[in-house]
Amino acid sequence: MAWRCSGSSNKELVENLFRADLIKSSRVRDAMMKVDRAHYCPDLSYAYEDSPQSISHAATISAPHMHASAAESLLPYLKPGARVLDVGSGSGYLTAVLAELVYPQEEDGNGEVGKARVVGLEHIKALRDMGEGNTKKSKRGQQLLGEGKVSFVVGDGRKGWSEGEGAEKGWDAIHVGAAAVELHQELVNQLRSPGRIFIPVEDPDGYGQHIWTVDKDANGVVTKKKLFGVRYVPLTDAPR
Ligand code: SAH
Repeated sequence: MAWRCSGSSNKELVENLFRADLIKSSRVRDAMMKVDRAHYCPDLSYAYEDSPQSISHAATISAPHMHASAAESLLPYLKPGARVLDVGSGSGYLTAVLAELVYPQEEDGNGEVGKARVVGLEHIKALRDMGEGNTKKSKRGQQLLGEGKVSFVVGDGRKGWSEGEGAEKGWDAIHVGAAAVELHQELVNQLRSPGRIFIPVEDPDGYGQHIWTVDKDANGVVTKKKLFGVRYVPLTDAPR
């Protein structure tokens, strides 16, 4: 599938993914159009390929169809004004796409939209810095960072993030970009009602991983759902 959906520009890549039904939602398509993947890939010659790429520190920027799938899964909770946590933000690409979904340019200003917050959380400082640096490559990214709508922080993603303005209110959506050995309760605690977590989790037999969604409904009732098999780098302790 990868080679068929690659393009010679960001626009072409996103259009090809949409045509191949790997991006299903026009909201996600439009958000991915606004974020140039070349700003987030170390090897520019593969920036518009539908494949993952190493970003050093044993981390990878996921393939665009995986980012689309994650954003689409969280989409009902990515309303303008939502608070979103991106655990294992790595390159910062998905953090920036999530920001476009909860903070659409055409609705800049005050009101509900102005309350949107997107936080990229990394346990390796060099990658936190990389995510921020990549986002700064566009004027739009500079604006979102400058206004505090998007930020990149260092911490252990298994504990979530409850610092900073409004963080005690929890998260409408939590994306986890590395495979956990369990569904960390702290992340569930930090989820708002209603809210959703998208998280890859190691299978109990240790031989595979699956995406799970964890939903908390308006009454606080938690429902877990196993979706499809994947291969992510592990959600681990930071190297010393
Ligand atoms: N969404 C990123 C994925 C990066 S790979 C992208 O597409 O660019 C997974 C990331 O999870 C790595 O950057 C890794 O450093 C980070 N990670 C692993 N364990 C972590 C932990 N306990 N807390 C925070 N980040 C972690």
